[in-house]
Amino acid sequence: MIEVVVEDRCNGCGDCVQACPSDVLRMGADGRAVIAHQADCQTCLLCELYCTTDALFVWPQVDRVVGLSAEQALASGQLGAFRRDHGWGEHTTTHTNQHWRMGAIFERARLLAVETAAAKTARPEDIR
Ligand code: SF4
Ligand code: SF4
Repeated sequence: MIEVVVEDRCNGCGDCVQACPSDVLRMGADGRAVIAHQADCQTCLLCELYCTTDALFVWPQVDRVVGLSAEQALASGQLGAFRRDHGWGEHTTTHTNQHWRMGAIFERARLLAVETAAAKTARPEDIR
C-alpha cells in the first residue's frame, strides 16, 4: 500500500500520477503529488519505479494502511531501494533487475483477490 509522499523530495513532475494504474495519486494545489485514493492502491510499486527523486514509499502490505510517516520512511533507508534494485534510471549500469523479489507480494495480492472474490460471490445458503 502506498504510505507516504515525502514532500521535500517531490519536484512535481507528475510521473507517478501518470504511472499509477489505480488512479491513487493526484497533483496537489502546491504542485506536489498527493495520495488521493489510498484504499485503491494495489501495491504494484510502479509509482516508486517512476519517481526519479525517490519521494514515494510503498509498504508491501497489500490489505491495509500501516500509517508510516515521512520521517519513518526516510529513516527506513528504503526510499529508492525498489527502483535501484530493478536497475532503473541511474542504476542501470550498477544493478541488475531484481524483479523476482516481487514474487511474495504478487502471491499475497493474488490470495487476497481470491478471498475477496469468494466473499463477494458467497450466497447465504453457502454459509453454515
Ligand atoms: S514522480 Fe516523484 S517527484 Fe514526480 S510528482 Fe510523483 S512523487 Fe513527485
Ligand atoms: S503502488 Fe501502484 S497502485 Fe499504489 S499508488 Fe503506487 S502506482 Fe498506484
